Amino acid sequence: MLFPTIAMAMIGAVDRDGSLPWLGSQGWFAFLVDLFALLVLVSVCAAFYIRKVQRPARFEGSHLGEADLILAWIAGIVTTLLLWHASRIALGLNEWPASWSPVAQALSHLFGRGQPTRSLERGFVWAHVLLIIGFLAYLPYSKHLHILVAAINVFFTRTRKRGRLEPIDFEQPEADVRFGAATAGDLTWKQLLDTMSCTECGRCQDACPAYNTGKELSPKLLIMALRDQVRAQSTTALVPNAVTDNVVWDCVTCGACVQECPVGIEHIDHIVDLRRNLVMVESRFPEEAGAMLRDVDRASNPWGKPQADRTAWADGLDVRVLQPGEAPPEVLFWVGCAPAFDERAKQGARSTAKLLKQAGVDFAILGPREACTGDPARRMGDEYTYQRLARQNVETLNQSKVTKIVTTCPHCFNTIGNEYADFGGRYEVVHHTEFLAELVRDGKLQPEAGGRKITYHDSCYLARHNDVLSAPRELAAASGQAVEMPRHGRRTFCCGAGGARMWMEERRGRPINEERVREAAETGADTLAVACPFCTVMLDDGVRNTGTKMQVIDLASLLHEAVERKNATRQS
Ligand code: SF4
Ligand code: SF4
Repeated sequence: MLFPTIAMAMIGAVDRDGSLPWLGSQGWFAFLVDLFALLVLVSVCAAFYIRKVQRPARFEGSHLGEADLILAWIAGIVTTLLLWHASRIALGLNEWPASWSPVAQALSHLFGRGQPTRSLERGFVWAHVLLIIGFLAYLPYSKHLHILVAAINVFFTRTRKRGRLEPIDFEQPEADVRFGAATAGDLTWKQLLDTMSCTECGRCQDACPAYNTGKELSPKLLIMALRDQVRAQSTTALVPNAVTDNVVWDCVTCGACVQECPVGIEHIDHIVDLRRNLVMVESRFPEEAGAMLRDVDRASNPWGKPQADRTAWADGLDVRVLQPGEAPPEVLFWVGCAPAFDERAKQGARSTAKLLKQAGVDFAILGPREACTGDPARRMGDEYTYQRLARQNVETLNQSKVTKIVTTCPHCFNTIGNEYADFGGRYEVVHHTEFLAELVRDGKLQPEAGGRKITYHDSCYLARHNDVLSAPRELAAASGQAVEMPRHGRRTFCCGAGGARMWMEERRGRPINEERVREAAETGADTLAVACPFCTVMLDDGVRNTGTKMQVIDLASLLHEAVERKNATRQS
């Protein structure tokens, strides 16, 4: 609509009787221009109302003065257009039937037919054209550049699962390897486009668990700071000149910002690239995370425990450990490090194994041949260690001819399912909640709901990053009375463990896990169901620290309880 209208105004400015051939005399087009101009004015008023009266917190840190100027500018452009049309109608110069422009026609009654109106008509059209030209000249220097680039950015936003990270190609000549982003010059073209696309709307900031718990990180301010560096063509280090180290390490890679951003900005890629540079080039990271990296590197798990202890969680369950050269099972149960080594996370794996056995599923585990997927190292920025572990695991899985994998850990689920293909690992990867829900649907597991009031916490890497939403809810409903938290599904709130934050002290702001536990407690539930070993540990800590009376329990354990209940009912 805008483009031909601008063209007509430019012609009309230099030639009072000129217009675009044909289109300039069309009533329907004049009507659309009238309608759009009115809608723009209503929208500008709504935007001013939101900014000046409602004042939502998400605008904190945005360039509010500049946004006001731009809104006023847009209002000026549209108002001069309407007044120009109105003055032409008053003078009888309109090429289109006046009745098709109800707004301009109504305004035309403000003017007479004499010389003053002739001068005003010239004044309005020139004001309109100059406002447009000024706007176009100002655009490249303002945050409003998003008007031009946002659509392109949305077009190029990746449609792959959100949890996937792009690998670094270490095979190419060392001089060409991009070790994350040190300066603005290291940003990829998509990252540059991201910085120019930001509308400063603050939706990302509003959803960010780090920002919401008083940390230094705001995804909006991060993108704005990177944009300032790009604009200034700065060659100084992005950290700490654009953002502090704390900002980089506050992120839990939950993806809430990416989910909320209306213009397709991919914040996690920026943050991981900053981390990659700090870790791999500068060896700069929080001390406690360094201990985790050493353990992953030395012991192949972040707990630093001997690999020989990997099967201890299954003691007494008679679970088959797949040996090299043996025929693969129908399903490989990828246990993950947390269920193997953390006491609280073990329970979910034990319940899963019991249920698989009850349903007669042919499954096995890799035992000591399973190594950490590399997820915590990768999300911390240590791509070297991640790729070493990924290649090692892919080799083990491929040699064992594994085709289908079930895992209780959404981080393993995401890494093996979305990222191992880069190293030749292509498997059908299923989360245990999906697998168990299918067994229930097929009648191979028959639960009986009990009296628990259950609220289910969506793990970010399951719900937001991988769209697994319904299967966990089926299991919760099959086990008791399910009730939702306000933030659920793709709009879940992180437990605080992602992005390797599980291994970092939370020294700034309020604990994310406690914030989530309070939200769960407000539902009145007595059971906080989880589907992730990291969430189990974090939320259990949150329950203890807040003194909340709620049991944190994996959905597999809830289902196992419900199946046992059914068995007991049958026997009685
Ligand atoms: S990924 Fe999550 S924690 Fe990180 S910036 Fe985005 S919303 Fe905040
Ligand atoms: S949601 Fe996107 S456009 Fe809005 S402030 Fe955040 S990064 Fe910018």
